[in-house]
Amino acid sequence: MRLRVTLSALVAATLLLLPAGEVASQRKPSAPGATKGKKMSRELPKTDEEWRKALAPEQYRVLRLKGTERAFTGKYWDHHADGSYTCAGCGQTLFRSTEKFDSGCGWPSFFDTADNTAVKFHEDNSLGMRRTEVTCARCGGHLGHIFDDGPNPTGKRYCINSASIDFAAKEKAPRR
Ligand SMILES: [Zn+2]
Repeated sequence: MRLRVTLSALVAATLLLLPAGEVASQRKPSAPGATKGKKMSRELPKTDEEWRKALAPEQYRVLRLKGTERAFTGKYWDHHADGSYTCAGCGQTLFRSTEKFDSGCGWPSFFDTADNTAVKFHEDNSLGMRRTEVTCARCGGHLGHIFDDGPNPTGKRYCINSASIDFAAKEKAPRR
């Protein structure tokens, strides 16, 4: 268990050190001038075609077409490193590892957001179910759904697609 946590933290740290173009399997090269740390100031794609070009195919399918990745297949359902989860569409911080929990459902699950203005809720009656969809408040990207069977203190379960989020490892506090 401990080894896995250390490994995923290492992988996350390594990914952060690479130039944006090296992470091509997950994300197509960003617009000129955009870097991973400056995504908040990056201008967002406007048209559907621009979004399709800006995102990797699975990110586009989930974020823009409201798709759902298959359970237990995403990058983050079994991910335990310390840090924050940002929107894969616009870079806004959405969730933190401190509110992540093991729900057993096969998708990353959180009992709260990093900031309650980061997401929006929408009634979703598709597929014969009554659910509440969760989207990114900044770019409108589909993240997943929220359910009332989460743990204390909120009782909520944000069931989020790994494809909709990126992970930023927490930097270790400098030793004094
Ligand atoms: Zn977003």
